[in-house]
Amino acid sequence: MECRLGCGACCIAPSISSLNKPAGERCRHLNADNLCAIFGQPERPKVCADFKACAWVCGSSNAVALTNLIELEQLTS
Ligand code: SF4
Ligand code: SF4
Repeated sequence: MECRLGCGACCIAPSISSLNKPAGERCRHLNADNLCAIFGQPERPKVCADFKACAWVCGSSNAVALTNLIELEQLTS
């Protein structure tokens, strides 16, 4: 599936060690429109580039994506 631009759930729910970002906190690079401010730039972590939207995680709404990603984070932490 295509990423729902402006969702931002995958930039909030997971912890991202290379950014020193705890789970559940907005990434400091996530702008007010919930878009990545460093998209396409070399400082964007590889883990971000590797994460692809998929229906079973991102679901049908931003709220569903956030819920699924919080659950996944808890399962894998
Ligand atoms: S959770 Fe999915 S739909 Fe939402 S921003 Fe990330 S990849 Fe896009
Ligand atoms: S660097 Fe960009 S893609 Fe990665 S979590 Fe932050 S805002 Fe999201």
